[in-house]
Amino acid sequence: MSDFIPQYAPLIEGEIGQSLNDYIQSGGWITEFKKTKEFEQKIAEFVGSQYCVVTTSGTTGLIMSLMAIALAPEDEVIVPNYTMIATPNAVKFLNAKPVFVDIDPVNLCMDLEALKQNITAKTKAIIYVSLNGRSGDLNALKLFCSKSNIILIEDAAQSLGSYNDKRHLGSLGHMGVFSFSVPKIITTGQGGAVVTNDEKIYKKLKSLKDFGRRSAGHDIHDEIGFNFKFTDIQAVVGLEQFKSIDQRMKRKKEVYKLYYNQLKQVKGVDILASSEEVTPWFVDIYIDNPTSLQAELAKNGIGSRLVYPPIHHQKIYKSNHSYPVSEKYCLSGLWLPSHPQLKDQEILKVCNVIKEFFNRESF
Ligand SMILES: *Cc1c(COP(=O)(O)O)cnc(C)c1O
Repeated sequence: MSDFIPQYAPLIEGEIGQSLNDYIQSGGWITEFKKTKEFEQKIAEFVGSQYCVVTTSGTTGLIMSLMAIALAPEDEVIVPNYTMIATPNAVKFLNAKPVFVDIDPVNLCMDLEALKQNITAKTKAIIYVSLNGRSGDLNALKLFCSKSNIILIEDAAQSLGSYNDKRHLGSLGHMGVFSFSVPKIITTGQGGAVVTNDEKIYKKLKSLKDFGRRSAGHDIHDEIGFNFKFTDIQAVVGLEQFKSIDQRMKRKKEVYKLYYNQLKQVKGVDILASSEEVTPWFVDIYIDNPTSLQAELAKNGIGSRLVYPPIHHQKIYKSNHSYPVSEKYCLSGLWLPSHPQLKDQEILKVCNVIKEFFNRESF
């Protein structure tokens, strides 16, 4: 069992123990303070946004973003039909209506033409999900949003280290949301961040996560807020993880490229070409029979995971509407072992199992 290759395992390295120890010795109160500020500055600087507010998760980041624009129950928010469930759920949290649109087969993100057909007088915001670090024509989307007076929120939970036309994902919309949950590019166990260039939104986010307080240390509340605060312990871990961001990005790209070069010629396997601007989060392939390949991989001691089902197939969002592209990809996708600590030999082993499987299949 020791040579089982898991689909994912977080890379937790560096001097985390020492840094946590130093932090405790320094007399910190564990809750968010100076280390959190430092982590926020690090993220803002890396992403190229003016402000950053960290919070308990990517999900709360999305919820806070929607609260910051005062999303109301009669409002509609456009989200892609291929995403993690947190994206539409954040809209539901505010009792507003998520409107699903199909994806673009070129990048598996929201189809911008389909998006335009779903705009109504009630459309308040669009949540663009840069799934797996990929994205489409965001310049065009930005222009469209500003002309139509629609707020653009980027769900960049999977996109730390990924760019669109040289700008870091998450920095193009009114707000961009990141996640630091265990499988993401860097992790603080749980955690999330919202970046923005809008000072008003920034102040609103700060207040929302701290009970709607006018300022820290005073119990004056001018608006409804909650407790979505971070901790300095997580910030210490996050700052350590950030030290290896360049190596993480480099290795993730190498891992994807190695899979791509091995699998692009395999008949029956669809794998999107890699791009230097993308730090792929997971290695995703699209095949006719993902569950049979998954069983075959498991027999060989290799973990894998089916990609997200199309949102409209989930019980809570069930609809008879047809979304042909997301149906095709969501029902055929499989995530292969994708952690940055994978060895080349292990990737080759996974690819050989896949090649043999498809050789047999084609007889
Ligand atoms: C992980 C993820 C989220 C949710 O982030 P959490 O930190 O787990 O709450 C939201 N959207 C996408 C696209 C994600 O991958």
